[in-house]
Amino acid sequence: MNILVINCGSSSLKYQLIDMAKEEVLAKGLVERIGIEGSVIKHETMGKEEVKIQEEMKDHKRALELVLSSLTNKDYGAVESLDAIDAVGHRVVHGGEAFADSVIINDEVMKAINDNVEIAPLHNPPNIMGIEACSELMKDVPQVAVFDTAFHQTMPEKNYIYGLPYEYYEKYKVRRYGFHGTSHKYVTEKAAELLNKPVNEVNLITCHLGNGSSITAVENGKSMDSSMGFTPLEGLVMGTRTGNLDPAIITFLMEKENLNPEEMSNLMNKKSGVLGISGVSSDFRDLEDAAKDNHRAQLALDIFESNVRKFIGAYFATLDHVDAIVFTAGVGENSISMRASIVEGLKNLGLKIDDKRNDIRGKAQEISAGDSSVKIFVIPTNEELMIAKETLALTQK
Ligand code: AMP
Repeated sequence: MNILVINCGSSSLKYQLIDMAKEEVLAKGLVERIGIEGSVIKHETMGKEEVKIQEEMKDHKRALELVLSSLTNKDYGAVESLDAIDAVGHRVVHGGEAFADSVIINDEVMKAINDNVEIAPLHNPPNIMGIEACSELMKDVPQVAVFDTAFHQTMPEKNYIYGLPYEYYEKYKVRRYGFHGTSHKYVTEKAAELLNKPVNEVNLITCHLGNGSSITAVENGKSMDSSMGFTPLEGLVMGTRTGNLDPAIITFLMEKENLNPEEMSNLMNKKSGVLGISGVSSDFRDLEDAAKDNHRAQLALDIFESNVRKFIGAYFATLDHVDAIVFTAGVGENSISMRASIVEGLKNLGLKIDDKRNDIRGKAQEISAGDSSVKIFVIPTNEELMIAKETLALTQK
């Protein structure tokens, strides 16, 4: 069974074709600049050379047409025809309260995803465009929606209601949702395997640290609390996002700088975080390189490290015990120094890293010392495989 995984952004489309019998990627690619001059696809069928296709793509439908023709191209494609694609799994950012699980897409599901555009205006519209394009071009192929928020729907009320008048939750569904759920769920299942325990018996703190970052408290395999909130802006300081702020700063700056809501949102989502603090880059590799002789680059790294530590501490207080802490995503999987300094700062909780074990990048491994109070793992995330697994499970039913 081959599953096509689609992840649409506003001007981009990432895809992977996965053979589920072997859990093996057959082909993958990235389309950039959809609807903008200079659209391009970078397509790679495993075992063949990467090809770059430059052609105007005015919308996601045109991009997908070219992706499907790349996948079936006789020279650089992966399959003979579209008949070899059995189902499509779509990443959908915001499922709101309507979805606690992945679902097969039908008219009712589309309506609910559309209803969530109000609370996710930046994220859901491109996902909808991808689903519509696929439904048109692959009419008889089942389409599945996998939501970033679904894993967190198990959060108890006390962890998702904000300190606002309750009527705004009732009227507008303003509440914490949590994001990166596909990743937190994937590493939770992997951590259970490493701990040799059933997944519904593990308590974890899963740290997805990448360009966007979130930390989740997992109790008995379920999300109990998570650092991202109503949108993916809350929580840790990130590549370009503020993370937590005193809410009064927002109205203060809007007044002082004469910013409208869209400009303020742009400032908080795209110009802040470690980029805004350092003035150097949103990329942690650049910051690590610059930190030696650039105070603000070092400061950005110190703030990020301290943010991560505070959330881990808070979730120790949320859970009644912790079986393991998991580091995943770009920074979590690859930054040896960031992992070491986060754990060093948690030694009062009995956490200890083993420097030799920690000397790895992108590999699933325990990195805690033998006498650490809690095990610490690095587990590379694989959101595409998780989406494909969920799609397989639903379409095989
Ligand atoms: P992601 O959003 O999960 O793709 O993560 C992207 C982030 O991971 C970027 O900020 C990268 O700088 C960071 N990253 C990737 N490799 C490394 C590395 N070797 N050391 C430090 N940060 C890294």
